[in-house]
Amino acid sequence: MQILVTNDDGIFSPGLQALAEAAARFGDVTVVAPDVEQSAMGHAITIWRPLTWKKARVGSFEAYRVNGTPADCTALGLYRWGGADLVLSGINLGANLGHDVWHSGTVAAARQAVFFGRPAVAFSLDINGEEQDFAAQKPTVEEVLRMLLENGALQDSSSGHPPLINVNLPRRSTGFRWTHQSVRSYSGKVIEGEDPRGRKHFWFSAVPLTGPDEGSDRWAVDNGLVSLTPLRIELTDEKKLEKNLQK
Ligand code: MN
Repeated sequence: MQILVTNDDGIFSPGLQALAEAAARFGDVTVVAPDVEQSAMGHAITIWRPLTWKKARVGSFEAYRVNGTPADCTALGLYRWGGADLVLSGINLGANLGHDVWHSGTVAAARQAVFFGRPAVAFSLDINGEEQDFAAQKPTVEEVLRMLLENGALQDSSSGHPPLINVNLPRRSTGFRWTHQSVRSYSGKVIEGEDPRGRKHFWFSAVPLTGPDEGSDRWAVDNGLVSLTPLRIELTDEKKLEKNLQK
């Protein structure tokens, strides 16, 4: 099996190497990753300039260092550098729970693979202000991949497209849980500040107004469980569509 490994934290992230090493237990790994951090770039793609790359090594793996977005890296890996049967993204420095899925470059890199007809899994590690230890997560990542490969979760295309699975790892896990994406209300805040030269600037911030519901991705990670959320590509609100068609 050919496995493409990418991320949004950039090619020098220790999370990328840990994921590549875990993936190598299951197939031949090629790494294609952004040259610099591309977190919170979402599903951006580069269309107004050409993409360039440098050959690199990530641990013992052949790697390509691309001056593009996470989604660009997936596209290049699939089209130019050997293709893949499975695309893995991460391990991200920080969880991607609930609304994070909209902003996450980690999830977008995986979603780009699904757009191109390949199953994909995004991995993110809850940091919670503590120092990260990606190497310690390798056995858990391997366990998740083994489970997904053995139970057919990566072959299931009943939703009309290859599987897209958003995995979030608590720092110390006690088990696994299939979850739904948590949706909760936020109060957006824009906090004004001042730089040392007296120039005004703004910081974006958001405060959750509601707690995570049971069975959701955030609830699982809060309770020390590895969260596995199957995501879909089609975002149509079926209930509202139905209602509007009947008017
Ligand atoms: Mn990131």
